[in-house]
Amino acid sequence: MSLLQISEPGMSTAPHEERLAIGIDLGTTNSLVATVRNGAPEVLKDHEGRKLLPSVVRYLDNGEIVVGEDAKLKISEDPLNTISSVKRLMGRSAEEIKEEGTYVSYDISDADGMIKLKTTAGEKSPVEVSADILKNLKARAEEALGGELVGAVVTVPAYFDDAQRQATKDAAKLAGLNVLRLLSEPTAAALAYGLDKGSEGLYVVFDLGGGTFDVSILRLTKGVFEVLATGGNSQLGGDDFDQRIFCWILEQAGLSLLNKSDSRLLLSKAKASKEHLTESQRAVIHATLSDGKIVNLTITREIFSAITAQLVSKCIDTTKNTLKDAGLKRHDIKGVVLVGGSTRMPNIREAVEDFFDQPPLTDIDPDEVVAVGASMQANLLAGNHAAGEDWLLLDVTPLSLGIETMGGLVEKVIPRNTAIPVAMAQDFTTFKDGQTAMSIHVVQGERDMVEDCRSLAKFTLRGIPPMVAGAARIRVTFQVDADGLLSVSARENTTGVEASVTVKPSYGLSDEEITRMLKESHGKAAEDMKQRELREQKVEADRLLESTASALRTDSDLLNDEERAQIDTLIDKLIQAKEQDVTENIKKAIEALSKGTESFAARRMNRTILAALQGKSVYEV
Ligand code: ADP
Ligand code: MG
Repeated sequence: MSLLQISEPGMSTAPHEERLAIGIDLGTTNSLVATVRNGAPEVLKDHEGRKLLPSVVRYLDNGEIVVGEDAKLKISEDPLNTISSVKRLMGRSAEEIKEEGTYVSYDISDADGMIKLKTTAGEKSPVEVSADILKNLKARAEEALGGELVGAVVTVPAYFDDAQRQATKDAAKLAGLNVLRLLSEPTAAALAYGLDKGSEGLYVVFDLGGGTFDVSILRLTKGVFEVLATGGNSQLGGDDFDQRIFCWILEQAGLSLLNKSDSRLLLSKAKASKEHLTESQRAVIHATLSDGKIVNLTITREIFSAITAQLVSKCIDTTKNTLKDAGLKRHDIKGVVLVGGSTRMPNIREAVEDFFDQPPLTDIDPDEVVAVGASMQANLLAGNHAAGEDWLLLDVTPLSLGIETMGGLVEKVIPRNTAIPVAMAQDFTTFKDGQTAMSIHVVQGERDMVEDCRSLAKFTLRGIPPMVAGAARIRVTFQVDADGLLSVSARENTTGVEASVTVKPSYGLSDEEITRMLKESHGKAAEDMKQRELREQKVEADRLLESTASALRTDSDLLNDEERAQIDTLIDKLIQAKEQDVTENIKKAIEALSKGTESFAARRMNRTILAALQGKSVYEV
């Protein structure tokens, strides 16, 4: 039992009828925690009065763990044990990280496929590192609120896949938090605005953080938030703007090769000048390098805008594409919500305003808006909402989900951009006579062929009663819960046998991969269609060959030698056509074999009817 706490009269931190719940923005660069107190959202501060907690964790060999600003200060001094941007590694294998080109400056091991960071305090998984950040925020909240928390809402990027969401949930559990739900960052931002201002319509959430850019399109209607589309670039953020200033400094000061500590020094000066330029027209960059050389430069807003113009247009181009993806025009958008520290930059604000032809919403601090929205959702889920206040949150699936059918084709069960939570079912059947098991292969992606999609899980449904091919009805149900986790079940109708799987793929997809998969599917639609037709004909050929063979096994006595030889020739021709991979020829050979076996089929039918009638009077039939 926890001890009762007594506070001075009038100083009570929270009315005790309120159940304490928090919202956490677990960011790549910075994290925050907020709560709703006496009906108003509030970002919680640390002892020094700081709201932002740098998402940096330093491990010491005595077991001590330092999180936040103090850890950030040691990045250059102790780079191997000071972990930053761990969010990029969540739910990822070493191989995937390499493929994505994510820069990792730590010693890593990937013994069982899962990535681990080698520190002086032992190997740490990204989940453990994130849990240490979350523990820090949890402690901050408990101290500020003076009580035990009932739970937390933790935000994740809208494009996070199952593996990344699961990893985030695991981190929160490891930190001792009761996760009320995961919430998409843009949805959280919209919540913060939607409820405060009661605005309705189509909104864009433009989130430019330290190392990532995310753009989402949301529809807000009475009490319902729906993510229509997401896009972005996981390698574009405030850090790139710092990098541009850094390069400008090198050029202006005539510097070329720098040692690590000088690079770090100038990079931090670059960042500081960038942030200064948000408030002022010019910033002074002054630094003394290790060889005594002094750098003394002044950068103006004009110069900064010129050297970063390309980055700004990259953001706008991505926004354009996302709108196109959702089938919208820029003038359909009623408002633009700015999220992330980098949207403080005046050149970003101007570009957004120019593009959408309206000033973006900035009433809520762009650093805090996600945490604020999360805290409002947490407050509601904890049961603190006022009477009549009742809302629903919807997100979407970033890629289509489906299963593999014969011939390596994909049948989509849940199309991409479907609002979640969702459950959808589709019926499938057996391919062979007497087939008693069915293998279910769950895939994710937009393409028609299984090998072009991503495999999520495989499982087998057994105990299907033997029937002729095509007679069984197997219902496959896909369910995506509010956190974006997928479970798939298959059920055979007559016996009720069932098998299911919850998909927690060990690793996920980056938004780049999602974008790449989408692009490929657009460019290859015609090719996919041809491939699909060919495969469908081949499946049809196999089905016909299989049923003909089975008929010949049981009833070949109905044929004379000549008829039998004719059918055998047609079978051989179909097999040959199949091997040539020409759709038209397979189609023709199928037709020929079907026609060539027509009278055989009729005779078999008679035999079956006669057998059924045996010993029965006409009246019984
Ligand atoms: P993340 O969502 O990735 O955790 P944040 O939203 O906290 O990141 O944004 C961090 C970025 O915002 C950094 O690149 C930082 O330099 C930038 N930033 C913060 N304040 C300002 C400012 N006043 N002007 C320009 N950039 C800023
Ligand atoms: Mg953020």
